[in-house]
Amino acid sequence: MTGRMTGKVAAITGAASGIGLECARALLAEGARVVLIDRAEDRLQALCAELGPSALPLVVDLLDGAQVSGMLPRILALTGHLDIFHANAGAYIGGPVQEGDPDSWDRMLNLNINAAFRSIHAVLPHMIERQTGDIVLTSSIAGVVPVVWEPIYTASKFAVQAFAHTIRRQLAPHGIRVGAVLPGPVVTALLDDWPKAKMEEALANGSLMQPVEVAEAVVFMLTRRKGVVVRDLVILPNTVDL
Ligand code: NAD
Repeated sequence: MTGRMTGKVAAITGAASGIGLECARALLAEGARVVLIDRAEDRLQALCAELGPSALPLVVDLLDGAQVSGMLPRILALTGHLDIFHANAGAYIGGPVQEGDPDSWDRMLNLNINAAFRSIHAVLPHMIERQTGDIVLTSSIAGVVPVVWEPIYTASKFAVQAFAHTIRRQLAPHGIRVGAVLPGPVVTALLDDWPKAKMEEALANGSLMQPVEVAEAVVFMLTRRKGVVVRDLVILPNTVDL
């Protein structure tokens, strides 16, 4: 099916790579205009040139609170309105807590938690004014199952889940839906930071997914009829036992 999002505008963070990029491709294929938000300026410009005129690049460093808080007028200048905001950008750090570097944790937590919360906060006035909208968060299976080899990442995704659950209730009266997608391991640049042993194990037992499989789940969420929300969509390889 195509064209189910004609007339809709989506903005996706972390859209110059991996899951965000495939979500952008999927929404474009359904007829939406998509603002691709990322800090990787060159990659973003090249991708949007390839994706066509409905793909609109927006360079934002999500670790810069002022840039995040100032995002909405820049999105609206490109598109006029916003129907869907997907807080997707994230980073990964795994390994035993005693071997971790707290400064690296801070950067990851700022991206996975603070930038997600701030960016959603930044676009809400527009959605509340229009009394309609969709918020999507890329959480993780690590947002509902404590994954012992990645404690700080797990904590960050539990925070994302808690935020999604609480704001869903707060925003429902405004006609805004909040859905989280919770993937297992997906082949993206993020897995470059996976422990080598975990990657070998996952490769050996076929426990990896492609970003397009997550994008299909997001399209499913966004194409339910108004009034129905897909709350937490866990998508896992069948071999993963978590
Ligand atoms: P990715 O590394 O392929 O893409 C992340 C994107 O975020 C990149 O384009 C990067 O430039 C951008 N980015 C990073 N820091 C930024 C910043 N400060 N400002 C703006 N943009 C920034 O990763 P991915 O796997 O596609 O991850 C996307 C989301 O999916 C993350 O939230 C991640 O936690 C989640 N997730 C990934 C997996 C997986 O196995 N890959 C599994 C579950 C959840």
